[in-house]
Order: sequence, then structure tokens, then C-alpha cells
Amino acid sequence: MVKKSHYRVVILGSGAAGLTAAIYAARANLKPLVIEGSQPGGQLMITTDVENYPGFPKGIMGPDLMEEFKRQAVRFGAETEFGEVTAVNVKQRPFKVSLGKDSVTCDALIVATGASAKLLGLESETRLMGHGVSACATCDGFFFKDKELVVVGGGDTAMEEAIFLTKFATKVTVVHRRNQLRASKIMQDRAEKNPRIFFVWEKVVEEIYGDPNAGGVTGIRLKNLKTGETRDFKCDGLFVAIGHEPNTKLFVGQLELNPAGYILTHDGTRTNVPGVFACGDVQDHVYRQAVTAAGTGCMAAIDAERFLESQAD
Ligand code: NDP
Repeated sequence: MVKKSHYRVVILGSGAAGLTAAIYAARANLKPLVIEGSQPGGQLMITTDVENYPGFPKGIMGPDLMEEFKRQAVRFGAETEFGEVTAVNVKQRPFKVSLGKDSVTCDALIVATGASAKLLGLESETRLMGHGVSACATCDGFFFKDKELVVVGGGDTAMEEAIFLTKFATKVTVVHRRNQLRASKIMQDRAEKNPRIFFVWEKVVEEIYGDPNAGGVTGIRLKNLKTGETRDFKCDGLFVAIGHEPNTKLFVGQLELNPAGYILTHDGTRTNVPGVFACGDVQDHVYRQAVTAAGTGCMAAIDAERFLESQAD
């Protein structure tokens, strides 16, 4: 239950961006409220080893890193609240944030709602989700010991998921729609060198076979994008790793978004509404790293602090 009805700063999201904004806003004595959202800790909670966050030469587990972020924010006086925001009104001040029947108001709002995994959009994918279909290898890989799996996608996420899944599966086949990976060179090399990883090029998954009540996924139908031919492919599970979409539904019609739905920012983290700032993956479709999310989180808190100071003049 939220302690107060009004806050100077409310932060939506508790990933690297939101919690860094909370650390800075709390240290500026703004006593921010962080609403943690549907996935507290953000995308790093479904990651294993984070090897590229500076300061951790041996790497750190994503959930451990986020736990430290949160402890640091709370230490300086940030309040955190479990729950998902159901509505936001930034058309009038103070801004209003609703959590079901409850609501709070704030003078400055920092949006750090991140992005979520994209799905293929097949009916069979929805039906078999959690029954052999997954969008998170670190969450579900364990269930596929000695099985044969498919990973869809050609980016860093797909490579990371495929490599991780070889800890459990005997064979992981990466299905990519082009004949060239989008992943960084280092991740490509790792995947290509892994004896359990195989590649299928220029093909898409057209259908996923299986019964959610009888063993889950049994195979897929692949379509060759060059010839149009289709063929069945046996597998015990399918992991979708085709990128992300920003969590901006609440802001449609209120904040300026780019065509892909990401919040547009200018002059640091400012949105088109004075007093509303955006940071992390919800406004960044390019870098999407923990360290860049944290960096923009810091910027958003400083921008919010300056905005509040300017209002007091
Ligand atoms: P990307 O957008 O980089 O890659 C998505 C992949 O999925 C592309 O290969 C794309 O194909 C394919 N794809 C997209 N839509 C479909 C579809 N409908 N059907 C089939 N295939 C599809 O997303 P990622 O999540 O991989 O990475 C996002 C960002 O996060 C990147 O900047 C990446 O570097 C970073 N990242 C870094 C990691 C690391 O350094 N360890 C780990 C994970 C992510 P196409 O290539 O044809 O567009």
C-alpha cells in the first residue's frame, strides 16, 4: 500500500533505469516512489551472467545486480511499491498515476517501463506458451534437459538463449529469417563454435505443433522464404528471441512516441510534456544495455530535479 497520496517524483519501472533514477532522486532528497511494474527488476531478472556491466570483471548474475540496485535506492530513502500501473494522466498537473483502485499524484514523473519480448503472433504460440513455447531461456531452460530445442531469431538475445540452452538440451537449432546474423561478432563466434548449436537459414516458423495437455510441443512447420516450400521439423520446445517492444500503451495519445512505439526524448530525457521524463529501454531502441539504461536513469533524475527547482522559482 502506497504511504502517501502525493510524491514529488514517481518512477514507473524498477529495472536498471528506474532504480538508478531512484538512487539519484533519493539522494537529491526527493523521496521518490518507485512502482515496480509487472516484472520487478526488469529484463535483467531474466538474464544469467551479465559480463559487460563495468565494475564486475568476473560478471554478475542479473537478478543479483538488480537486488543491489534496489538496496542502494532504498538505503537513500526511495519507497518501492509492488504493482502494475493501470492508468496515467499527464494531461494535467499534478500528474496522476493509478494502480487499480488506488492512485497517487506527483510533480514529476519518470517513465522507465522498459520493453517486453516480442512474439511471433501465431495462434499455436499462444496456445502452447508455457507448454514448450517460451520467451525466456533462463526462466524455462531447466525444463528441457536432454531435449531438442529451437530458438527463433538472429540477434544477441537469440545467441545468448541458444548458448544458455545447451546447458540442458542435447541440440539447439537457431532458425533465422535471413542468411546473416544480426548478433555481435563475439556472440556469433560463441554460438557457431558450440557443438550443440545448429543453424537453419532463411526460414520462418509457420506453425507450432503440439498439445498443451499432452506433453506440449512436438515440432514446427518451417517455411523457406526463398522457395516458399514448407517442411516439418521435430523439436521438444521453442524459444522466441526476436527482440522487444516498448511498454508504452499507457502513454498513447499523451506522450510523443516514434513509429515503433518508443517514447521520444529531447535535451536529455525530456518528453513532450514538461515534468515527464523517460529513460532506459522505453526510449532507447538502439543501445538497450544495462549500463546505458542506468546512465539515462541518472539523467532523468537530474532532469527531474532541475525541473522541480525551476518550478519553485
Ligand atoms: P534484435 O532486434 O537485435 O534482433 C532480433 C532478431 O529477431 C533479428 O535477427 C530479427 O531478424 C529477428 N526477428 C525479428 N522479428 C522477427 C519475426 N517476426 N520473425 C522472425 N525473426 C524475427 O533483438 P535482440 O533482443 O536480439 O537484441 C536487442 C539489443 O540487446 C541489441 O542491441 C543487442 O545487442 C542487445 N543484447 C546484448 C546482449 C549481450 O551483449 N550479451 C544480449 C542480448 C541482447 P533480422 O535480423 O532479419 O532483423
